[in-house]
Amino acid sequence: MLLRDILHAKGAAVHTVSPDATLAEVVHRLVEHNCGSLVVCEPADSMQMVGIITERDILRACAAGRMPLTAHTVRECMTCNVVTGSPSQPVEETMGVLTAKRIRHMPIVEQNRLVGIISIGDVVKAQHDELTMENHYLKNYLLG
Ligand code: AMP
Repeated sequence: MLLRDILHAKGAAVHTVSPDATLAEVVHRLVEHNCGSLVVCEPADSMQMVGIITERDILRACAAGRMPLTAHTVRECMTCNVVTGSPSQPVEETMGVLTAKRIRHMPIVEQNRLVGIISIGDVVKAQHDELTMENHYLKNYLLG
């Protein structure tokens, strides 16, 4: 299975934020969209990715005493070196990258265009669905 297959099922929506937004805005957006990361784009309404910010970065900012969250910006806390994937990448390989780099979110890029985002939850679900299906067919084959 490829990342393209997951994106076909879940869609290409990517929630984004400007580097000049405050951390308080990030918290609101994460809760509003029920997700764990926002891709940072500049200019704000473009799909020009300049970083990623996740709930982990917010937690780190809190632990570092960067309060109030309305006084600090995404730019201060985002990760600029974004690890990206491609739609033609196998799901198993992606699980290896996410685990090795200890990240849970991977923006997907094709021909320099942001075409979606995959979370570790999406990868686990895809692998679980595939194994369930395989198990079903194997049982049918064995039991007739
Ligand atoms: P996460 O486990 O995805 O919440 O992210 C943990 C840390 O890695 C945070 O500091 C994120 O900003 C960073 N991070 C998450 N996803 C990526 C990614 N695709 N590329 C680079 N850094 C990332």
